[in-house]
Amino acid sequence: AVPLVVSVSTALSAKNGLLIRNRASFERSRNIDAVIFDKTGTLTEGRFGITDVVTLSPDHDEDDVLNYSASLESYSEHPIARGFAKTAVKTYEVHDFRSIPGKGVQGRINGKHVEVVSPGFLTEHSAEASNEKLDELSLQGKTIVFVVVEGEVIGAVALADVIRGESKKAIKKLKEMGIRCIMITGDKKEVAEWVSNEIGLDKYYAEVLPHEKAEKIREIQSAGAVVAMTGDGINDAPALAQADVGIAIGAGTDVAIEAGDVVLVRSNPLDVVYTVKLARSTYSKML
Ligand code: ADP
Ligand code: MG
Repeated sequence: AVPLVVSVSTALSAKNGLLIRNRASFERSRNIDAVIFDKTGTLTEGRFGITDVVTLSPDHDEDDVLNYSASLESYSEHPIARGFAKTAVKTYEVHDFRSIPGKGVQGRINGKHVEVVSPGFLTEHSAEASNEKLDELSLQGKTIVFVVVEGEVIGAVALADVIRGESKKAIKKLKEMGIRCIMITGDKKEVAEWVSNEIGLDKYYAEVLPHEKAEKIREIQSAGAVVAMTGDGINDAPALAQADVGIAIGAGTDVAIEAGDVVLVRSNPLDVVYTVKLARSTYSKML
């Protein structure tokens, strides 16, 4: 039989927007030492908007940069891609579209190979495209993607996301409860640093590739910590499964929700605090 306190907590959790998919994991959340948060869509709303377009080639103007990138991004479901919707003056037909997980997208437009990629991807391919303006935008926490046509970096687009209103408060409360708060993101160090400073994280890992996220969790666990992972993306699913408690953002992808032990129906980071508190009060009464 289900102990009374447990069924009471089930009712309480449902009322407060928690969906508990795995009770044993939920129970473990009373002993959590660290919460690892994904950035985009978890600590932030994951709703990007374009703030700046920069040209980096004398043969291409800002419209070129936008038209190529927006056409390509119309095939992607990534939050960054959604930021491009309705920006192109001209939309090109795209062939052989492919996404490069954690790095960008590519395809053929008018017979030319076109890529929209992360700064890290450029560096990997020994291309460097830095300028003062882009450095400044990075320091403001903006995400930069580069537009590459036939191997030439023709420009860059800066996009801004919004930090969720409750993120800072959630971090503060968790820290007061003796829980370490860490962020893990595929985005650049400057952006991670900016978000971290805004909300008071203990630590962050930046430029982490999708397949490396679960590995990072394992690393933190092997140092002896009981770990919760909070995320929303397809690329967070393995990390959610690896964590002692996987907490999925309700507005996130189906893949993340399937991998979660607890689902935050309201997508509110403060509900991570509530999860831990509820687990602590539920299971202390049972002992
Ligand atoms: P996060 O860990 O913040 O959720 P991802 O792993 O999904 O981020 O993506 C990491 C980086 O890969 C992004 O910051 C961006 O530079 C690049 N990227 C991913 N998808 C796209 C896309 N559709 N267009 C351009 N860049 C992308
Ligand atoms: Mg995310």
